[in-house]
Amino acid sequence: MSAATLTPEDELAQRFARIYEREPILEVRGLGKQFATGSGVIDALRDVSFKVHRRELVCVIGPSGCGKSTLIRILAGLETLSSGQVLVDGQPVSGPGRDRGMVFQGYSLFPWLTVKRNVMFGPEMSGHPHNVAEGMARQWLELVGLSDFADAYPHQLSGGMRQRVAIARALVNEPRILLMDEPFGALDAQTRAKMQSHLLDIWKNLDITVLFITHDLDEAIYLADRILVLKAHPGEVQEIVEVPVPRPRSPAQFSSEAFRATRAHIEALIHPPVEHSPEPEEEPAPASTMIRFTAVDDNVE
Ligand code: ADP
Ligand code: MG
Repeated sequence: MSAATLTPEDELAQRFARIYEREPILEVRGLGKQFATGSGVIDALRDVSFKVHRRELVCVIGPSGCGKSTLIRILAGLETLSSGQVLVDGQPVSGPGRDRGMVFQGYSLFPWLTVKRNVMFGPEMSGHPHNVAEGMARQWLELVGLSDFADAYPHQLSGGMRQRVAIARALVNEPRILLMDEPFGALDAQTRAKMQSHLLDIWKNLDITVLFITHDLDEAIYLADRILVLKAHPGEVQEIVEVPVPRPRSPAQFSSEAFRATRAHIEALIHPPVEHSPEPEEEPAPASTMIRFTAVDDNVE
């Protein structure tokens, strides 16, 4: 059948069939995490299972405290798990590794090193000679559009530029998967939109798989192939949503039917309709024009 005769539904089904045919780069099986605190045990994550396929971009969304950062920290090997298994390329994760690159919301650059030196740091630590590491840094800085700032210090850069350096620094190690925890959360709206498009450009040009945490629904739909919706207390997978918005993505799609339908679907998951509320007599919360799943000050990493 030629592409011209396919319905949008067929095209969508084929797109996801192609994604699921690819090998899983990340596999999370029955993951659980409890924290013992003074006031009892917190079930931060319970029985979380999903796969991310090669070159897939999966976003994780959910209310503040649902375990998003805990999940990504376990995947990065920075936190232990209580039960279940995490596999990267089929191998169990037992600590941090070069197969996983991390980008956090907070700027994680070394302030005393130049941009180039920040990017060279990883390759030098893994034994590459200085001149090789420098060549690698230059190549990745070019990819993120910062060649002209190689000798600048982080404090001389804007927030968006610093996050581009953080991305270059994660990618220079050629990880199998890029783990991003609200990386654009501290940026102003305009810079954030630019960074989203920039990330899609990078992703398109590389063999890289991305797991991206956000509390911004529009950001998730704009970026993702699929969206993992988490619910809180305990942190469990509520649904894994296939995003029907075609690629390549553009900001013009924000008003498209597919975009709006996906948004409405996920909003209903996170804020169920009032008639299903267990306390119908309660005053409804004032309508908000902006969906925000995280408190404004929830940027502590
Ligand atoms: P999110 O990133 O979705 O906002 P977190 O992963 O930061 O959520 O937190 C999930 C839950 O686990 C929260 O209830 C939080 O208070 C708790 N938590 C996270 N880290 C710790 C810790 N080190 N010790 C105790 N509780 C923690
Ligand atoms: Mg968090």
